[in-house]
Amino acid sequence: MSRPIDPETTGLRWNFDNSYCQLAPCFFTRQAPNPVRDPRLVIFNHSLSQELGLSGTTETEPSIARELAGNQIPVGAEPIAQAYAGHQFGHFAILGDGRAILLGEHLSPSGQRFDIQLKGAGQTPYSRRGDGRAALGPMLREYIISEAMHALGIPTTRSLAVVSTGQPVYRETPLPGAILTRIAASHIRVGTFEYAATQGDLTLLHSLADYTIQRHYPECAEAENPYLALLQAISEAQARLIARWQLVGFVHGVMNTDNMSIAGETIDYGPCAFMDAYHPQTVFSSIDQQGRYAYGNQPLMTQWNLARLTEALLLLLHPDREEALALGRTVVFEFPERFQHYWRIGMSDKLGLFTEESSDQALIETLLAWMQNTAQDFTHTFRSLGSESLADQPFFQDAAFTDWHDAWQARLSRQPQTPDQVRAHMNAHNPAIIARNHLVEEALQTASEKNDLSLLHQLLEALRQPYRDLPQFATYQTPPPPSVEPYRTFCGT
Ligand code: AMP
Ligand code: MG
Repeated sequence: MSRPIDPETTGLRWNFDNSYCQLAPCFFTRQAPNPVRDPRLVIFNHSLSQELGLSGTTETEPSIARELAGNQIPVGAEPIAQAYAGHQFGHFAILGDGRAILLGEHLSPSGQRFDIQLKGAGQTPYSRRGDGRAALGPMLREYIISEAMHALGIPTTRSLAVVSTGQPVYRETPLPGAILTRIAASHIRVGTFEYAATQGDLTLLHSLADYTIQRHYPECAEAENPYLALLQAISEAQARLIARWQLVGFVHGVMNTDNMSIAGETIDYGPCAFMDAYHPQTVFSSIDQQGRYAYGNQPLMTQWNLARLTEALLLLLHPDREEALALGRTVVFEFPERFQHYWRIGMSDKLGLFTEESSDQALIETLLAWMQNTAQDFTHTFRSLGSESLADQPFFQDAAFTDWHDAWQARLSRQPQTPDQVRAHMNAHNPAIIARNHLVEEALQTASEKNDLSLLHQLLEALRQPYRDLPQFATYQTPPPPSVEPYRTFCGT
């Protein structure tokens, strides 16, 4: 398809095919982004743009900035704000995109469908008292951490760009405003189903469930009970995802049901952070005073969210309420087992275990207990276990560790794999580089205070290959210096 090329307006090569806005009107509001004063491209993800088939030869930085700021609506886009509800820290609320606009769904050259969302694009009918805007720091932070998660191989929304708006946003102090372009399999949340269930019209819930099956879990349509199959598929995707979080020490920080993607992607990077020293009660978010979303609680909170999803879907599971409850309960009660299954596989990979023995669980738990008692760095410890210079680590002098090490070595000797095979396998599963808090903060500070993005680009480069020991990135592997103050994060508003 060719269209006239105007250097002033030529942007990215969009291929929109919008299906969500075919749902009933209660699911969204048509809402154009609110143009900003001075859109400028701060960072652009060239490789993602290539993957999505967005890069051509005629787009210019200003034209990309105009489109990704919402100042110019690309051909084929049908901007909407999505309606949803959610349980926030356990309390139900009607929500919706208060500061995000879905431009539409882009089909990539391989035929995959992606939501293109502008986060921070201005007020919508769901903004409540919010300004609909976002600050540069948190948007760059989401860019870094989502791209780090992707490089780790963990399902996640991705970040195409951050555009500065030339307008301040007022938080405790005035901050530079920015808009993140978020790419997602979809933005259907547990909270979207909770919202549909509150509408008092079963056809709406049906239409959302059918749409979700068609878009994400088409195999469920063939099942005897498609909606039960959908619930099971979502549970499975979440078990797999949260296991991956646990295995790299990722703490999401705000696992409200509106922040749980039905597609099984990590979404809504607000107060999230990677754990340094291992402790199950690790919490970073300043608003999570009770530790509801602490590292060790994440599987339980996923199950809690799944229970809310089950309640929302109840009327679709079976015409008889008791039968429906029994079916739903089974899925919810099975979740810990599903999670444990993926967690065990992942832990075996991290420890180089190719076979299964009944004592493996104890072996894993003993290591974790030792790490907790001695406040070992989670990432560094696992990476060191697969290193030939393990004996040079200071903790190798610790008697509790060497006892565990003897047991582990004995266990490894009972499987056929060679030490080299074991090490290679471990190093493909234990990242050397994660988005460490002190490095992320340093890069963000240099970017916002000195307008210098060099550290941020270097960090992104290092995070791109997290499983390799590249000499130029050695500094990114070092755990942070012991600090007096625990690391705190704030909601990305
Ligand atoms: P979050 O904590 O980012 O998941 O957001 C929770 C809810 O608050 C969502 O409905 C957001 O759209 C809304 N929200 C967050 N920040 C703002 C803002 N600055 N303006 C309007 N709505 C917002
Ligand atoms: Mg959210």
